[in-house]
Amino acid sequence: MTNKKSEIPPAAESEYDLIVIGSGPGGEGATMKAAKDGMRTLLVERHAIGGGCTHWATIPSKALRHQVNQVMEMRRNPIYGALVVENPPTFPQLLRTAEGVIVKQVAMRRDFYLRNHVKVLHGRAHFLDPHEIAVETSTGAKRVRAKKLFIAVGSRPYRPPELDFTQPRIRDSDTILKLDHTPDSITVYGAGVVGCEYASIFRNLGIKVNLINSRDKLLSFLDDEIVDALGYHLRDQGMLIRHNEEYERVEVVSDGVILHLKSGKRIKSDVLLWAQGRAGNTQDLGLENIGVTTDSRGQIKVDDNFRTTVPNIYAVGDVIGYPSLASASYDQGRFAAHHAVHGVADATLVEQIPTGIYTSPEISSLGKNERELTAAGVPYEVGHSLFRSLARAQITGNTVGMLKLLFHRDTLEILGIHCFGDQAAEIVHIGQAIMSQKDGANTLRYFMNTTFNYPTMAEAYRVAALNGFNRLH
Ligand SMILES: Cc1cc2nc3c(=O)[nH]c(=O)nc-3n(C[C@H](O)[C@H](O)[C@H](O)COP(=O)(O)OP(=O)(O)OC[C@H]3O[C@@H](n4cnc5c(N)ncnc54)[C@H](O)[C@@H]3O)c2cc1C
Repeated sequence: MTNKKSEIPPAAESEYDLIVIGSGPGGEGATMKAAKDGMRTLLVERHAIGGGCTHWATIPSKALRHQVNQVMEMRRNPIYGALVVENPPTFPQLLRTAEGVIVKQVAMRRDFYLRNHVKVLHGRAHFLDPHEIAVETSTGAKRVRAKKLFIAVGSRPYRPPELDFTQPRIRDSDTILKLDHTPDSITVYGAGVVGCEYASIFRNLGIKVNLINSRDKLLSFLDDEIVDALGYHLRDQGMLIRHNEEYERVEVVSDGVILHLKSGKRIKSDVLLWAQGRAGNTQDLGLENIGVTTDSRGQIKVDDNFRTTVPNIYAVGDVIGYPSLASASYDQGRFAAHHAVHGVADATLVEQIPTGIYTSPEISSLGKNERELTAAGVPYEVGHSLFRSLARAQITGNTVGMLKLLFHRDTLEILGIHCFGDQAAEIVHIGQAIMSQKDGANTLRYFMNTTFNYPTMAEAYRVAALNGFNRLH
C-alpha cells in the first residue's frame, strides 16, 4: 500500500453517488440502503466480502461456540456421552465447521450486491481528497470519485508493541482461529465481551482457563445481578477469574507462556489469548489527505448523523468505537446512508441497541439497569422469573438462568430487560417489541394479560411481570 500520488493513475476512472469502504455489517448496511434508494454505489473491500464480522470475529466465534455447545450436550447424553468422552473432537476440528457458514454468508452477500447492481471493487482504499480514493487492486491502482463516501473499515485487536504476536503461544482474537491444536490450558488477558466469550468456549471444551480482568468486576456495563450470576457460573464451571490485575510482561518458555502480573503473580499456561480492546483500521487510509483525525486507538469521531468532520464523509461501525457490535454497525450504516441520500434520518434505528453476550450462560439486556435507575432517582420495581421454575427449561435441562424486568412503579412502563441463560439473546427481543411501543403501549400489563404458548421460555415474561406487579401491593 502506498500513499504516493506518483504510483496511482492520473485521473479518476469512474464517478459514483456513493462509495463505501469496507464490506462488514456497517458497510453492508450503508451500501444496501444507498443502492435500494437508487444511488450509484461502489463497495470497496480489500479482503473477501463480509468483513471481519464474517471472517474472523462474530461468525467464526459463534459457529465455534455452537459446536462446543453440541459437544457439551453430547457429553450429558446418557447414551452417546461416552463416545465424546473417549474421543473428544479437537479445537481445529470444531473450528472447521465455521468454514461452511462463512462460505454461505459470503455467497449470500455477493448475491445481494449483484442483484442490487452494486459494483464491488476488491482492493485496499485510501483517500486522495474528500471526493476521491485510490484503490490498490490486484491489477494495479484505480482512482474513483463520489459525492459521498463511507468509512466502514472496522477494527482489529489492539496489540501492545512490546508483545510478540509471531510467537505461536501468544494469540489475539484473530489468530486464535488459527490454533492448530487443543491446548491443555489457556490464559485470557482481558475480560471484556470477547475475552469472556472465548474463556467460556475454552472452558466448555474442558480446557483449564485463567481469566484475568484488569477491572474490579466482569462486564460492568451490565446489571449487577447479571454480572454476579456470570461470575458465579463461570467459577462454578471451574474457571479461575482474577480481578484488578494488570500485566507487567509476558514470558514465553519452552513448555508454555507466563503472564507476569504487577501484583507479583505469575500465571503459566499453554497459550495466552490477549483480549485487551480493539483499534480502528484507520492506518494507511490516507485520512491525513482529508483532514479527518483519529484518537489513540485509531477511532474516528462522528456527529449524531455519523458524519465525520468532513461533511460528505461518514463513518460507521467499529471504526467509530462504542458499541462495536455487528448488529449496531449494520443499523448505523443504514441510518447514515439514509441521511446521506435524503438529508434526514430516523434516530429510532440506532437507539436502544440490545447487548448479546455469548458466554455460557448467555446474556442479553436492553435499556436501563438497576444502578442507572437508582442513580437517576427513578422509582422502579423489579420482576424476576427463574428459568428453573419454567416447564420448558425443566424439559430441555437448561435451568440455569433468569429474566428480570425493571419497570416504573407508577406508569408500569418497562425500563430495562435483563436476561441470562439459554437463548437469552433471543428472549430479550420479545420484551424489546413491547418496550419500543409509544403512547402508553409500553406496559408491564401486556405481559400480565397475554396468553403465552405453554411450555415456552417466553412464558418467563408473564412470570416476571406478575412477580414484579405483586411487589407493588
Ligand atoms: C471475537 C469477536 C466476536 C464478536 N461477536 C459478536 C457478536 O456475537 N455479535 C455482534 O453483534 N458483534 C460481535 N462482534 C463485533 C462485530 O464483529 C463487529 O462489531 C463488526 O464486525 C463491525 O462491523 P464493521 O462493518 O464496522 O467492520 P468489519 O466487520 O471489521 O469489516 C470491515 C471491513 O473493512 C475492510 N477494510 C478495512 N480497511 C480497508 C481498506 N483500506 N480498503 C478496503 N477495505 C478495507 C476489512 O477488510 C473488512 O472486511 C464480535 C467481534 C469479535 C472480535
